[in-house]
Amino acid sequence: AIVRRAGPQDLDASVVFWADIVIICVAGAFFLFTLPRAVARFGPGGGWLDGHFFRSRRHVRNPRGTVSSENLTRDTHSGGITPSSAVSEKAVQVRNPLHMRAWQARFPGAMRILRYPMIGRIHTGGVAICALYFGLLLFAALYKSSIFKDPQRAGLVAASQIPIVYVLATKNNVLSVAWGTAYDKLNYHHRFAGRLLVLAANVHAIGYIYLWTREHRWLRTIAQPQYAWGLTALILLDILLLFSLAWFRQKFYNMFIFTHVIASIIFLVAVSLHMSQAVPYVIAGAVFYGVDRIVRLLKTRIATATVTTLPEMCMTELTIPSINGGWRAGQHVRVHILSTGMGFYGWLESHPYTIASAPTVAHGAPEGLVLLSKNCGRWTKALHAIAAANTKGVESGSHVKVLIQGPYGGPGYTLPHSFSGAMYVVGGSGISYGLAGVQEVLQYARAGSNTVRIIELVWSVHHPDCLTPLLPTFSSMLAQALALDIKLTISVFYTRAVTSDHEFKEYALSPGLALEPGRPPVNHLVHDVVGRTLHAISDRGERRGVFVGACGPGSLGDAVRNAVSDLDVKGQSNLVGGVELHEE
Ligand SMILES: Cc1cc2nc3c(=O)[nH]c(=O)nc-3n(C[C@H](O)[C@H](O)[C@H](O)COP(=O)(O)OP(=O)(O)OC[C@H]3O[C@@H](n4cnc5c(N)ncnc54)[C@H](O)[C@@H]3O)c2cc1C
Repeated sequence: AIVRRAGPQDLDASVVFWADIVIICVAGAFFLFTLPRAVARFGPGGGWLDGHFFRSRRHVRNPRGTVSSENLTRDTHSGGITPSSAVSEKAVQVRNPLHMRAWQARFPGAMRILRYPMIGRIHTGGVAICALYFGLLLFAALYKSSIFKDPQRAGLVAASQIPIVYVLATKNNVLSVAWGTAYDKLNYHHRFAGRLLVLAANVHAIGYIYLWTREHRWLRTIAQPQYAWGLTALILLDILLLFSLAWFRQKFYNMFIFTHVIASIIFLVAVSLHMSQAVPYVIAGAVFYGVDRIVRLLKTRIATATVTTLPEMCMTELTIPSINGGWRAGQHVRVHILSTGMGFYGWLESHPYTIASAPTVAHGAPEGLVLLSKNCGRWTKALHAIAAANTKGVESGSHVKVLIQGPYGGPGYTLPHSFSGAMYVVGGSGISYGLAGVQEVLQYARAGSNTVRIIELVWSVHHPDCLTPLLPTFSSMLAQALALDIKLTISVFYTRAVTSDHEFKEYALSPGLALEPGRPPVNHLVHDVVGRTLHAISDRGERRGVFVGACGPGSLGDAVRNAVSDLDVKGQSNLVGGVELHEE
């Protein structure tokens, strides 16, 4: 009766309509679960304005943007930090950020199972959601129907999934905002929903093609515009699927993007002209797509960047001083280099990069937005060549115009500075995340809105020389942490043996910075951080847990995940107030 009153009257249309209603209800339930964490972002130190649009703030700069420890003294009465520089003369008011435990920290036992990678990098939780989604669509396709007798139903199932596939494909989408989950973390679901849509559309088409061929009216029928548009929509879907397969994506990334954008737009037109019942779903998909494109435009800036080579790290550093605020640690951008040096169409390509600096809460990132790009393929090597072609001397770097879009991704409703301890385990170019993460916590501490007492940064690299360009930054971070009464330790592990033709340099390492051979003993290090955090907060009532961020090769991520699971098994997660794992 409800179906007849509220939904479409025809059974086929009504079943798929109600399947979508179930999906919307589940999405709404997830939103309600995350709501308390969303609200916490509006509290002190929640930084709810950050992470959406870039800003250019006025700030006082000093060399390499570092804040010297001499500029900071601890105000023993308030517990806050008094910058003794001319920037501010009054003590910073301490306002601890609200801390809302994530579900993964509340139910570590269940999370241990749900975050276990099951198919590739897709975890058990993701596989379970996909399985339930598949079951729902299967029910919608088969309820009082048969794919052999009623090809119409499969077509409607395909059309009804258009909004879901399109909303999950966009970078700026309502689900990411509602769930506090970065768009890239939802991408596997876009791929799964997209494949089911293609499957349903093919079942629908094959059913009719078989019928028309059997009745000797295939040519006559397909000549009619309505069915010709249907065939066009099907071909576009199959092209979308083909070029999105992992092999094509990795080998021909530009082809994948080009076909995806063009085919997905024409598909919406084709399917509307094929099937009038699809129009509401097409409108919803087009709205999601259109809003995303508008927000992307609003998130786009053209700026001048300085590019410098970092030969020891086989990387290129790209700095944009004019953009110095509006992002969060862990977020990334997409960059176009507007230079003929990038090759014939290299300037048309946009590549994703994690931001390697953090904007100071009050004054903006001192050195601006920094990206570290590993020289690995054609595009990144061309960027490196532009930086190397600098004729004015190594210090100044080369200047290029860039088109930068973002910020995207990031930790959502998690506030790393609201924990008792924080740990970043990164490998190679993942150091961008580690640098931004540690700097962000230190900057919240300067602003008097931080509860982290222990921070550990673990960086795994091939060669010890990688340390050279970052030595001043690490030393500065250690000095700032000392002034802020935060125990920061930085451990750099190198995996490649030092050979006779490549000498080992003697580094003057600041206290708190260690350079060690071999792979990082991740399990031991994670347990150690939790142990030290427990010790550091033993005199305080509040246990806010430990934030663990990981970014790097899959094996490093696996090691961190296993270590966190081990803590969950031993009950240490609960003891410290929960351990929250964030994988970049
Ligand atoms: C969210 C995110 C953040 C990243 N952050 C960093 C970082 O901070 N530092 C860093 O060094 N690297 C980072 N990368 C990787 C970096 O984007 C790639 O190494 C770079 O785009 C490769 O370009 P290439 O053409 O020189 O290399 P290629 O050897 O041609 O490509 C290597 C692989 O990169 C992928 N790729 C190629 N072109 C693109 C593109 N336009 N967009 C997306 N992927 C592409 C393809 O899967 C390809 O297989 C990040 C990647 C992602 C997804």
